[in-house]
Amino acid sequence: MTGPDKDFFNYSYSELVDVLAKEFDATKFRATQLFEWVYRRGVTDFDQMTNISRELRVRLADRFVFPVAAVNDRQISTDGTRKYLFEVEGGDLVESVMIKQPNRMTLCVSSQVGCAMGCKFCRTGTMGLKRSLSTSEIIRQVRGVLEDAKNFGDSFSNIVFMGMGEPLHNFDGVTRAVKLLTDPIGLGMSPRKVTVSTVGLVPAIRKLAASDVSVSLAVSLNATTDEIRSQVMPINDRFPISELLDAIKAFPVGPRKKVTIEYVMLGGLNDTEEDRKRLAKMMRGMPVKINLIPYNDNAGLGFNSPSREWVYEWQRYMSSQGLQAFIRWSKGADIAAACGQLATNSKRQSRLPVLEQAAA
Ligand code: SF4
Repeated sequence: MTGPDKDFFNYSYSELVDVLAKEFDATKFRATQLFEWVYRRGVTDFDQMTNISRELRVRLADRFVFPVAAVNDRQISTDGTRKYLFEVEGGDLVESVMIKQPNRMTLCVSSQVGCAMGCKFCRTGTMGLKRSLSTSEIIRQVRGVLEDAKNFGDSFSNIVFMGMGEPLHNFDGVTRAVKLLTDPIGLGMSPRKVTVSTVGLVPAIRKLAASDVSVSLAVSLNATTDEIRSQVMPINDRFPISELLDAIKAFPVGPRKKVTIEYVMLGGLNDTEEDRKRLAKMMRGMPVKINLIPYNDNAGLGFNSPSREWVYEWQRYMSSQGLQAFIRWSKGADIAAACGQLATNSKRQSRLPVLEQAAA
C-alpha cells in the first residue's frame, strides 16, 4: 500500500488519536467521538456525525473509508444457526456463523482465508492457506452480522475466533481486532466474552500471554497421546502435548477464569476408555474447563461420530474426577456450519440478494 491506510477499521483508538493530532490538529476528544459514532452507534456516514464540525467532517471523509464485507450468501439452519459467506478484499470468501444457544448467541468469526494447519477432521484444513485477514476484514464480519441481526431482532453476546483459519497464525490481525472488540471506547465487550481458539501454537500462546491483550483462550487438544494427536493434527509434530500443557499452565487466567480445552471426540479413535482416564489425569489441577465436541460425521472426512450415550458417559466421568466438562453438540450441521465443516472455494460467487429477501 502506498500512502496512509484509509481503512478506518484498521486503526486502534490510540492510533486514531495520533493520526487526528498529526494530520488534523485535533484533540483526543475527536477520536472518542469518532469511535463512539462508528462502534457504538454503527454510523459510518460523516454527514450524520453532527457533533463534529462540518469542515472537519469533510476532511475526515477524504481521509477515511469504511469498507463493508458484502454478504455473498446466508443460510439458516433448522436449529436457528445462521451461516454467512462474506466477500472480503480481492473477492476472497470467508464464513462467519451465528450460533443460537439457550442462554446466549455466539458469533464465530474467521481469521484467515483457508488454513495452513491441516487438521484432518476439518474441511477448512483441506483448503490450505491463501492469506490472513486484516483487522478490518475481521471487524467487517462482526459489523456485517450485527447489521443482519436486526432482521431477526437479536444480537450476539459472545465472539469466538473459531471459524476458518488458525487465529494465532494471524497474530497481529487477530489481537488488534480483539482490542477493538474489547476497548471500552470501541465495541466494549468483556474479554471474558471474546475467545481465541488455537490449535496449539506454543510460541504464539506464550506471546499472547506476555502481551497486553486481554482475551479468553481455548486450545484444541483432541487427543491424549502424541501418536494420535500427530495423526489428526500435524502441528503436534512441532509442539507435542507436554509443551502445549506447559504453555497452558503458564497462561495468565484471572480469578474465576479458565482456559477452555476443546476435545473433538472422534468415535473409536480418541475417545476410548484409556483416553478419558488419560485426559482426566492430564487436566487435574489445571485451571481449565473441558468442552467435549462430538464429531459431526457429515463433514465427510472419514471419521466417526461417537454415540450420544458415550458422550454423556465421558461427561459423567470427567465430573466424577472433579473436572468441569460441557458437551457442545453440533449446531447448523444441515447448512455445513458445524465445527469442522467450514470451507469455501475462496473464489467469487454470484452474490445473492439474501438480505433483501430477509427484509421483505
Ligand atoms: S481445525 Fe482450525 S486450525 Fe485446524 S485446520 Fe481447521 S481451521 Fe485450521
